Formats: sequence, C-alpha cells, structure tokens
Amino acid sequence: MGIVVSKRINKTQEPLPKTLPGVVCAQRVRCGKPRCRCAHGQRHLAFYRFWREGGRLRKRYVRRADLASVGAACEARLRERQALAEGWQQWRKLVAGVREVSR
Ligand SMILES: [Zn+2]
Repeated sequence: MGIVVSKRINKTQEPLPKTLPGVVCAQRVRCGKPRCRCAHGQRHLAFYRFWREGGRLRKRYVRRADLASVGAACEARLRERQALAEGWQQWRKLVAGVREVSR
C-alpha cells in the first residue's frame, strides 16, 4: 500500500508574473484581535510590496508563501531596467562615436 500524494493545484491562486515593480518591505502590524500578542506591543511582521503607479505609491500585502517569488520578481524587474539603462548608455556612446567619425 503506497501513500497517495495528491498534487492538487490551487486554482484560485493567480500565477505570479515573472517581473514586478517595486520593493518588498517588512512592516510591523496589528491584526486587530484583542487577545493577540500584537495588542500588547509585540506586533506581527507583515510583508508588503510598494510600487509607484501613475505617480502614486501603492502597497499590496505579500503572503509569507509568496514572499520568495514576489521578491524574486521585483529583483528581476530591477535587473531588466538596469539592463535597459545600460543598453541606452551604450547606444548613446555609439551615436556619439558615429558623430565624432562623420565630422
Ligand atoms: Zn495579532
């Protein structure tokens, strides 16, 4: 008799995009339950992703289970933007070089 491991995929969970804007920050919060430890000072550590959208700062709660993947997605976006910036710099150098030669 073997053990049956169910590989049920949670369909309510949206797949995370490969890249995400912003940064993940930890914040201490109160859950609101009167008997909880957080009501007496020892707050919960909760994670949020902050990003700018249309000039406004936005914030979304990140579940502990999603922490690693959301953090990785933010880093991926950052790397993407850095690569883009480097690409622009190279392009500008190239243009400047061409101007120099064609003078
Ligand atoms: Zn609490």
